[in-house]
Amino acid sequence: MSPYQNKKVLLASMHQKELAIQEPFEEIVGCRLEVIDNFNTDQFGTFSGEVERVLTAYETLKQKAIVAAEQYNYDYVISSEGAFGPHPNYLLANSDTEMLLFYDRVNDYFISDYEISMETNLADYEFDQPNHDYSKFLDKVMFPSHALILKAENIVIAKGIKDRATLDQLVAENIHKYGKLKLETDMRAMNNPSRMKVISLLANKLAKRVISHCKSCDTPGFGITSLSGYLLCELCGLPTKIKKYREHKCIKCDYLEKEVIDLSKQFADPKYCDYCNP
Ligand SMILES: [Zn+2]
Ligand SMILES: [Zn+2]
Repeated sequence: MSPYQNKKVLLASMHQKELAIQEPFEEIVGCRLEVIDNFNTDQFGTFSGEVERVLTAYETLKQKAIVAAEQYNYDYVISSEGAFGPHPNYLLANSDTEMLLFYDRVNDYFISDYEISMETNLADYEFDQPNHDYSKFLDKVMFPSHALILKAENIVIAKGIKDRATLDQLVAENIHKYGKLKLETDMRAMNNPSRMKVISLLANKLAKRVISHCKSCDTPGFGITSLSGYLLCELCGLPTKIKKYREHKCIKCDYLEKEVIDLSKQFADPKYCDYCNP
């Protein structure tokens, strides 16, 4: 049975992320999720560039969880964090990196996981003409199912814009005043269904990890931490960039399990070999 069965867990997050996180945690972990309406996670930085982010994503996650646990006196807290930008492996594509952390204050466990997805509408668009037609941009970023932010230089004029009439009116009111306006995708979860979907995937993954125990010391949170090893090139036998193992690790002891990523592949295709295909 899950050690967190029926435990009260605080979701230290804004922007209705419970829509993606509550169900997997309640169903898989068996805990009860509680959401604090006014927990201001913006103090740790926001996605529209208003507060400079000083901590790394993982440190921010931990800080959010620790602060929330103390502030609201919970033993268990879930915190979340998202970052948007060029994909780490495919630099020409944008990506959404979501991180979730489960904090067990009683045992001082931090169990985290992440998900990187290219399913993101992250984009911006500048224009300086009063009657400029930005319809194509709106289609591309899936407006109005996905909301927009209107900015002038670094001033936020409006966030969470979800209908065309409001957008057009705001543009008309501000284009002469500022000369140049910028539309940005609103990445806050409740305004961005693509992002909500990634958070939901991740919440399922983390929930499963929380109930996965180390075979050696029984600590929860056992799971994949990294990839290791290299497949050798089928042609020349040299190591390629293709990883061979997934490493599952304990968050507390040194216990480690290596799992072959793809059992059907003993060697790598020479196209991934720096020697055969430089
Ligand atoms: Zn080779
Ligand atoms: Zn262990």
